[in-house]
Amino acid sequence: MKFILPELSYSSDALAPVIGQQTIELHHGKHFQGYINNLNNLIVNTEFADSQLVDIVKNSDGAIFNNAGQTLNHQLYFSAFTPKGGGVPQGGLAEAINSQFGGFEKFQQEFTQAGATLFGSGWVWLAKDTDGKLSIEKEANAGNPVTKGLEPILGFDVWEHSYYLDYQNRRPDHLKALWNIIDWNVVSKRY
Ligand code: MN
Repeated sequence: MKFILPELSYSSDALAPVIGQQTIELHHGKHFQGYINNLNNLIVNTEFADSQLVDIVKNSDGAIFNNAGQTLNHQLYFSAFTPKGGGVPQGGLAEAINSQFGGFEKFQQEFTQAGATLFGSGWVWLAKDTDGKLSIEKEANAGNPVTKGLEPILGFDVWEHSYYLDYQNRRPDHLKALWNIIDWNVVSKRY
């Protein structure tokens, strides 16, 4: 299967100042596109040539895993934003967050802290298990909770390419600002 770059549902300048136009253009147009190109090239004539993306992430390792993981991660990441974002989750996700984290603000703090303290490049995820139990998962590099049998709901990219032009070393400020562009309509449906 040949993977293609998903178009953004917003213009490249629409998320500023939370994420600036140049960051979006490089992150989506160059980094994300690069992972997809690499993945397409790497799976030719392998057991993964006709596989679904999630199955590749679950069953591969090495370079194929890294590029498949980053393809899945960035799909989930870029589709979770809207310039009219922010606010709070809805429906079942809101209830689960409130009961399991003691409220949305406590969840936000814990999630932001997990991202701020993740050493090196990686991702912080909100994930759910098959019973609907939520957890915050810190993943290095291309990691995604699907490899632990969990379903990813929301992921913040803490690779420096996601924030360095706008925030330099201030990763915690970037993570705090991201809450203002989360599209909870989209993210709540993943629960
Ligand atoms: Mn990235």
